[in-house]
Amino acid sequence: MQCPLCKQKVIHFLSWAKGSNAFKTTCQSCQTKLKANFIVYLGFIFTFSMAFLALIFILELKNEIKESWLISEIIKSIVPVPLVFLGGFLTWKFGGYKKQ
Ligand SMILES: [Zn+2]
Repeated sequence: MQCPLCKQKVIHFLSWAKGSNAFKTTCQSCQTKLKANFIVYLGFIFTFSMAFLALIFILELKNEIKESWLISEIIKSIVPVPLVFLGGFLTWKFGGYKKQ
C-alpha cells in the first residue's frame, strides 16, 4: 500500500495484517495519519464471506462423506486459513489509504 501523499510504501504485509494497522496507520516516510479506503473494507467483507461460505461447504461435504470427527475438525480449521491469507494479501495489494 502506498501513501497517497508521498507515494512511498506505507506498510509491509505482515505488519498490515496485525491488528488495526489495516484500517489506521501513520506513514513512516511523511508521518501523515492515514485511514483505509473503501477497497480495504470491501476486501475484508469479501474475504470473510468467502471463508464463511467455505466453512458451510465443508460442513455440507462432511455430512456426505461421513469421515471421522477428528478429520472433519482438522479440515474445518485448515481450509479457511489460505482463503483468509489470500484475501488479506489481495486486499493489501489493491487496497489503499487516504488522509485522515
Ligand atoms: Zn507518506
